[in-house]
Amino acid sequence: MSQGVKTGGLALRNPTTSAPILHQSSVDACDLLVKALQDGGRFSAEAHRACVREAGNQARQARLKAEAAYLDGLKVSGGRKMAKRLERMGETGAWLSAIPNRFDGTEFSREEFQDNLAIRYGLRPRGLPERCDGCNEPFSVEHGLSCKKGGFAGQRHDDVCEELAHLCSMALTASRVSSEPEIFYGRGLMAAQRGASEVLGDEARGDVGAHGFWKRGRTTIFDVQVCDTDAKSYGNRESKKVLESAARRKREKYEEACLERRRDFTPMLYSVDGMADKLARAAEKRIAGLLAAKWTRQYSQMACFVRTRMCLAVVRSNTLLLRGDRAMSWRRRAPEDGVAARAAMTFQIQ
Ligand SMILES: [Zn+2]
Repeated sequence: MSQGVKTGGLALRNPTTSAPILHQSSVDACDLLVKALQDGGRFSAEAHRACVREAGNQARQARLKAEAAYLDGLKVSGGRKMAKRLERMGETGAWLSAIPNRFDGTEFSREEFQDNLAIRYGLRPRGLPERCDGCNEPFSVEHGLSCKKGGFAGQRHDDVCEELAHLCSMALTASRVSSEPEIFYGRGLMAAQRGASEVLGDEARGDVGAHGFWKRGRTTIFDVQVCDTDAKSYGNRESKKVLESAARRKREKYEEACLERRRDFTPMLYSVDGMADKLARAAEKRIAGLLAAKWTRQYSQMACFVRTRMCLAVVRSNTLLLRGDRAMSWRRRAPEDGVAARAAMTFQIQ
C-alpha cells in the first residue's frame, strides 16, 4: 500500500519508514543554505535551488529503486499468476490518482472503487454471488468480467467508445467525429476477400471515426476492444503481449481496407483493469497533444487528463459486470417491438 501507484501501491506513505529518509533529504537540500548562514559568506540562490533539486531527485530515485526491488521480490515469491498481475500494475493505476470531480467526469462510487481495488490486488470483491444469475455457472471474477449474458460486456464497450468519441470531439470538433463509421463504402459489403474464400473481417463498421486525427484531411477509424488478459485461455502470456496480438488481429482484418480508402485504422485495446495497448496509448497522446494546442495547456497535464478519462471509462464498468443483474426472465414477457404491441392491442379490441 505504501508503494507508489506505478509500482503497485496506493501511495499511502508509511511515516515510520519514510520519515528518516525524508529527514535526510531535507538535510541534504539545506546544505548550502546552512553553510552560508554559519560562515556568513555569500549565498547563491541559484546554487541553492540546484542543491534542493538534486537532493529531491536522489531521494526519489532511491525510493523508486527500493520499490522496484520489493516488487521483483514479490514476482519471484508469488508465482506466475501474481507476477502477471504485478507486471500490469504500473499501467493500470490512472484511476487511483484522479480526484473525484463531477465537472471533470471523474466521479467514482464507493463500490466501484472497492471492486477495482480488489481486482488490482487479485482479491475477490466482497458480496459476490455464488452462481451467475445469467447462465448459472459458478461466479468467479473472471466469469463476471467476461459473461456475455445481460449485455454488460457490450455496454462496457460502448462506454469506452463514447468516452473516446467525446475526447476526440473536444480535441477536434464535434462534426469531425462520427460513431460507427462504415469501413467499406456501400451497403452489405464485408471486409476485402483475400484469395477465393477467405473473408478477412465480419464487420463492416468501426466504432469511432475522427476526421483529421493523425493527419490533415484523413479520417481515422478506431476499433475498441476491452479484454480480460487474466482469462484462463491466455495462460501465462504477458498481458502486454495479449493486447498486442489482439490489436494485430484487428489490423489484419481492417487496416488494408481502410488504407485503400485513404483512411487510417487504429485499434484501441484495453485490459479490463485499464491497461492500454501501445497503439491506444499513442492515440491518447495524440488527443492530449491536440487538446494542449487547442486549450493552451501543458502537454503533460493533458496527457494525464486523457489517460485518466479513458482508464476510468474502462474500469467503471467492472462493478456493473460483477454486480449487475443478468436475470433474463422478465425480458420474455413484454412485446419486443411496436408490431407486437399493436398486435396485442388489436387482439384486445376484438
Ligand atoms: Zn454467466
